[in-house]
Amino acid sequence: MLRKAGRAMTKENTAERVVRFLVKHAQCSDCDCPYHAEDVHVLAHRQERVWDLAAVCHNCYTMSLIRAVVRGQIALRELTLAEERHFEKLPPIDVDDVLDLSAFLTDFDGDFRGLFGKESEES
Ligand SMILES: [Zn+2]
Repeated sequence: MLRKAGRAMTKENTAERVVRFLVKHAQCSDCDCPYHAEDVHVLAHRQERVWDLAAVCHNCYTMSLIRAVVRGQIALRELTLAEERHFEKLPPIDVDDVLDLSAFLTDFDGDFRGLFGKESEES
């Protein structure tokens, strides 16, 4: 009695679409190696629209944090100048940071509004 999951699969399908888009259109910023699907990990997403991903290059192990915005079509957004300046001042990510993030995400319910305040649009 195999039954295909229909509409319940929407979330997985969007995640797959985002990863597929990334694999097709992005590459490692350090060595220009294209990503494989298994290099890309979804860190968090807000509804079906905003996806935060980590891509770890299988060639040089450089990790990139990528935000994908789905608006009918998926767009990968580069950082703005202000965002770049902000991140330049921060120390490099180390193993402890990754472990902290992993622990945080384990308990995180996805409520970014509660986390950052209620500045985003109501829907
Ligand atoms: Zn690389």
